Amino acid sequence: MTRTNTKKKDTKFDIAIIGAGPTGIAFACGLSNTNLKVAIIDKQPRESISNPIIDGREIALTHHSVKILKKLSVWDYIPNKTISEIKEARVLDGNSKYFLNFAHQEIRKDCLGFLIPNFIIRKNLYKRLKNLPNISIINKVECLSIDVNDKYASLKLSNGKKIKASLVVAADSRFSKIRSKMGISAYTSDFNKSMIVCRMKHEKPHKNIAYEFFRYKQTQATLPYIKNQSGIVTTANNDLTAELMEMDNKNFNKEIQNSFGNFFGKMKLLGKRYSYPMITTYTKKFVSHRFALIGDAAVGMHPVTAHGFNLNLKGLEILINEIKKAINNKTDIGLESILKNYQNKLHKAAAPIYLATNSIVNLYTSNILPAKLTRQFILRFVNTVKPVKQTFLNILK
Ligand SMILES: Cc1cc2nc3c(=O)[nH]c(=O)nc-3n(C[C@H](O)[C@H](O)[C@H](O)COP(=O)(O)OP(=O)(O)OC[C@H]3O[C@@H](n4cnc5c(N)ncnc54)[C@H](O)[C@@H]3O)c2cc1C
Repeated sequence: MTRTNTKKKDTKFDIAIIGAGPTGIAFACGLSNTNLKVAIIDKQPRESISNPIIDGREIALTHHSVKILKKLSVWDYIPNKTISEIKEARVLDGNSKYFLNFAHQEIRKDCLGFLIPNFIIRKNLYKRLKNLPNISIINKVECLSIDVNDKYASLKLSNGKKIKASLVVAADSRFSKIRSKMGISAYTSDFNKSMIVCRMKHEKPHKNIAYEFFRYKQTQATLPYIKNQSGIVTTANNDLTAELMEMDNKNFNKEIQNSFGNFFGKMKLLGKRYSYPMITTYTKKFVSHRFALIGDAAVGMHPVTAHGFNLNLKGLEILINEIKKAINNKTDIGLESILKNYQNKLHKAAAPIYLATNSIVNLYTSNILPAKLTRQFILRFVNTVKPVKQTFLNILK
């Protein structure tokens, strides 16, 4: 393995991570009990990383993700009072009252998963990161370019400095510039839709049930948070979402309340609304010599099935294991042959979920009659054919 020369202050690292989003930080935390010298670089100022602002995303975490966060010693930092349990998930189509149901008893756990606001996850990931002695945080600095040779990868930074590393790991979002600089392209699907997320208070209880309503003009999901509050997720074409974003709070409340047909009784917006464009990406390869992509930079999922960050955690768990194996075998951690094990395992886990999610989105946002009939059929099919339902439930374990 190429070891760093610590005498040449802070210019050489074993691993340089580009991006201190939730994936980059979680990955760095996973390297805490190694002797590796790690740098994590982000263009954001320290305050935005340590104390991230609310972004409207409520992240639904699987049991496996919680296990990973526990292994990273991050879970215990997250206050209990900010975590909500999801006991059931129901999927409804059009105006039909029939629903596909996933219940926690079917996976023999107390709940299907956990709901935590994204900014709280990010804040507590940083709390764990900040005291790790082998990790240097380089903030307010953009990584401009990357060069790779046989012995090391070299990064040019916006502060004029250069750093070298045995391995560069890019976690710089689904629109990763470093990925392009490495000559790696991604399959991209633009759904020409946007998603509005916000927190709302409602009169009737959610009973810790998450709902996905595939209506004909828009898709609406509700994520049960603490007290009588839910994360409300509305996906629609860009014109309708622009209209919803511009409405004053009073009209927005009325509009959302009406679209739920009194399902939750009176509804009231808490805080702001946030809008995200619906573009998914799947990178053609996740690794090359001394280079690996993780997080959304590798696979940028559609949020409708809430798998993005869950998959990112699974990916970084795989990469950390491969790196630790290489260290134990006294092998160079930047070798493409080592990184390819990560690529193969992540691809096996991610491709089926990515393709299934995009197909679900295409089918359940189509208004043509055959699609409408298929939509109904699929809900009944998954509900009644046990092995098919089990495949979906296994993802939540
Ligand atoms: C509305 C919505 C709801 C979601 N709900 C869920 C859910 O319920 N469950 C779930 O599992 N997932 C969910 N997700 C997905 C999840 O939020 C993302 O997968 C996750 O945030 C991606 O994290 P990341 O660290 O990979 O990338 P990002 O969060 O995009 O972070 C990238 C970082 O890289 C930095 N950066 C970029 N370029 C450079 C550069 N050149 N130099 C230095 N720094 C750079 C940026 O400043 C940023 O900090 C949702 C997503 C959305 C949009």
